[in-house]
Amino acid sequence: MNPPKRECRQCWFHAYEIHKGNWLGLAPRKDCPECLDHLKNGHPDHMIVR
Ligand SMILES: [Zn+2]
Ligand SMILES: [Zn+2]
Repeated sequence: MNPPKRECRQCWFHAYEIHKGNWLGLAPRKDCPECLDHLKNGHPDHMIVR
């Protein structure tokens, strides 16, 4: 599976593969520092799919 355009690769991958669709969805996990960092500081430009 590949993330759709304009999605953040990390967050997409985490949501679909690691957090099983829960991140940014029904039950976001609060124990993932990488996702929390993106949520706080935004997604790095180089991680956005072009
Ligand atoms: Zn995560
Ligand atoms: Zn992100």
